[in-house]
Amino acid sequence: MNLNLKDKVILISGGAKGIGGAISRGLIEEGAIPVMIDPSEMEGKEILDLAKGKALQIPIRLFSPEDSQEVITRTLEVFGRIDGLVNNAGSNDSVGLEKGNPEAFAQSVAKNLNHYYHLAHFTLPYLKKSKGSIVNISSKTAITGQGNTSGYTAAKGAQLALTREWAVELLPYQIRVNAVIPAEVMTPMYENWIKSFANPEEKLTEINRRIPLGNRMTSSEEIAAMVIFLLSDKASHITGQHLFVDGGYTHLDRAL
Ligand code: NAP
Repeated sequence: MNLNLKDKVILISGGAKGIGGAISRGLIEEGAIPVMIDPSEMEGKEILDLAKGKALQIPIRLFSPEDSQEVITRTLEVFGRIDGLVNNAGSNDSVGLEKGNPEAFAQSVAKNLNHYYHLAHFTLPYLKKSKGSIVNISSKTAITGQGNTSGYTAAKGAQLALTREWAVELLPYQIRVNAVIPAEVMTPMYENWIKSFANPEEKLTEINRRIPLGNRMTSSEEIAAMVIFLLSDKASHITGQHLFVDGGYTHLDRAL
């Protein structure tokens, strides 16, 4: 299937590592041009080398509206267009009800959510021109909870609500907006989380056992495949959807 993504310029927040890194690599395979908004310079350089010049890294840790504005300015200076946006950067930072406080909660929501809005807001004039598409990466924790992570889950839930809200608002411009919901994917962030358990190996075996399809985790490449399809015009009648790429973990009977 030709996804018609050749030379399309796609912004990916957190696009150098983990799920975002797989999205950038997958886009390069399709001939598209990933713009990685990610401070991880070493991992970004590997992807830049792979792209042989048809990629860009903007090593910014997104937080303020100005950060996102700078990303748009620099992308337009280099490529002159924007065809898609993947809001992906986030971190599960364990700000809970008991082990947390109002300031930490506000900070966690801000750092996981606000740049999703900022990037969508500032790319909009260019997405209107290209009839581009937006994909928001949320999390299973928005649906099931996880415990001790109020700020992160609040942001992840809001990303699902905004997916529907933006899909409606952007109907007149033929801009499609969808969300992809991962559950268990081995990335640098996940590795840090699993190491926080007393016996990480045992915990991982227990999690894998409960994943219905194949008793294994989802790979970053399997998440990327869905994201890249949604960005492409082959997904031309899909908008406002929440797509679970999780081997059935969220919805199927875990006693199977
Ligand atoms: P990851 O391994 O930590 O990779 C994320 C990348 O984004 C890192 O390079 C990170 O840099 C960068 N980043 C973080 N905050 C940023 C910011 N504000 N601005 C720019 N770059 C930033 O994470 P991941 O597991 O791939 O997660 C990606 C997305 O998937 C997140 O939205 C996460 O909530 C979601 N998700 C993941 C899983 C999973 O199982 N892995 C499950 C559900 C949802 P640093 O490393 O320097 O911070």
